Amino acid sequence: MSRTTDPVVIIGAGQAGGWVALTIRQLQPDREVVLIGEEDHPPYERPPLSKEVLSGKTAPESTYLKPLDFYAENRIELRLKTTASGIDRDLKQVRLSDGACLAYGTLVLATGMRPRPLSVPGGDHPRVRALRAMADLPEIRGHLTSGRRIVAIGAGFIGLEVAAVAVTAGCTVTVIEAAHHPLGRVVAPEVGRAMAARHERRGISFRYGASVASISDIDGQAAVHLADGETILADLVLCGIGGIPNDDLARSAGLECDNGILVDEAGRTSDPLIYAVGDVCSQWSIALGRRIRLESWQNAQNQAIAVGRHIGGAPRPYTDLPWFWTDQYEDNFQIIGAPERWERIIWRGSPEDDRFTAIYMDGNRIVAGNTLNNARDIRPLKQMILEGTPVDDALLRDTSTPLQKLQKKQAA
Ligand SMILES: Cc1cc2nc3c(=O)[nH]c(=O)nc-3n(C[C@H](O)[C@H](O)[C@H](O)COP(=O)(O)OP(=O)(O)OC[C@H]3O[C@@H](n4cnc5c(N)ncnc54)[C@H](O)[C@@H]3O)c2cc1C
Repeated sequence: MSRTTDPVVIIGAGQAGGWVALTIRQLQPDREVVLIGEEDHPPYERPPLSKEVLSGKTAPESTYLKPLDFYAENRIELRLKTTASGIDRDLKQVRLSDGACLAYGTLVLATGMRPRPLSVPGGDHPRVRALRAMADLPEIRGHLTSGRRIVAIGAGFIGLEVAAVAVTAGCTVTVIEAAHHPLGRVVAPEVGRAMAARHERRGISFRYGASVASISDIDGQAAVHLADGETILADLVLCGIGGIPNDDLARSAGLECDNGILVDEAGRTSDPLIYAVGDVCSQWSIALGRRIRLESWQNAQNQAIAVGRHIGGAPRPYTDLPWFWTDQYEDNFQIIGAPERWERIIWRGSPEDDRFTAIYMDGNRIVAGNTLNNARDIRPLKQMILEGTPVDDALLRDTSTPLQKLQKKQAA
């Protein structure tokens, strides 16, 4: 293929990289677009990997953004099983693991992140696994059968989602968490405790304030030794202790990085010819007025579309407020906003209920919200956070007025 003067090369064929390619193709039918991905699969969405694909309810291929054929049919050059190993900014070239070099006019880094390894003696035991990619599924799924013992290290979203699938499959599940409640990084302790209660009811045991000292092998199984002396035997140890942004290529190329690749409001790195999108980038958020690195489906799609539009000559500011959801059992839990501080939580419903909304207040303003099986409250909460109008606690607590109605009244 002869190369145009400004080919777009995208490194990382995940959700964000995929959306950049699709958006440019829609805007510029003739622009050369190359998408480089080290996995075997075309771009796919990861959330189902720890939910309905893990439980076997849906097929792995249902996660694909587009079927494999779509890319060739739409002249997106998709190079799978190919790793980019270096960037030469002077020559404007990407080096590939097979030794080939690829010229770019515009480069997009969409390399995502990798699971943080368990850095204790025995942390590399073969029964210790993380869940990030489709290739991780067979080994993990193979252990989720009745009677198996599963230990999840980290009570974050992935740990809890896998724990939920495992206990539903009849496994004995223990979750080990360094903090004193689950989801500590993203929700208030009282909300985390409300979510933990739902897991405990189904038989999951939690160890809070606990840390793993080491892992040893007992007849092929993993023996998880906690710092307090307890040992828990496991057929599978699911390690869900967060991730590390894959910003190594950017660092080696001299791009500014700090917990991810630093990008401006348009997604540009410190080199204006190079953009970064998705989990790997730390972006100036218009909605929050500060820099943030998000690990979420919404960001991987919408921020990538905004970058695709910028490259494709039809810019539109990316103003989304962070939004995240998780499914555990039949429960749907959502988070809107990403506050650095709040003073108190107002409950609509009770933490013991099967449905509630928790509203995070700073002074008389809403800064975030969580909903359990109450997704209809997310939109009005989002509006009220963005509008920043003062709201009275008593009005928010009054469940006889739907939040949507209250929001409209406040906005008027
Ligand atoms: C199990 C799981 C469950 C999740 N559940 C939820 C959820 O319920 N709700 C939610 O909002 N978010 C969820 N997320 C988060 C969401 O999936 C991520 O935020 C999203 O996938 C980020 O997209 P990305 O394209 O930035 O990164 P990725 O999807 O990780 O894609 C990056 C791609 O780049 C490739 N790559 C990296 N380096 C190179 C290289 N040098 N050369 C070539 N290719 C390279 C990687 O192999 C990967 O394919 C979940 C994530 C996981 C893993």
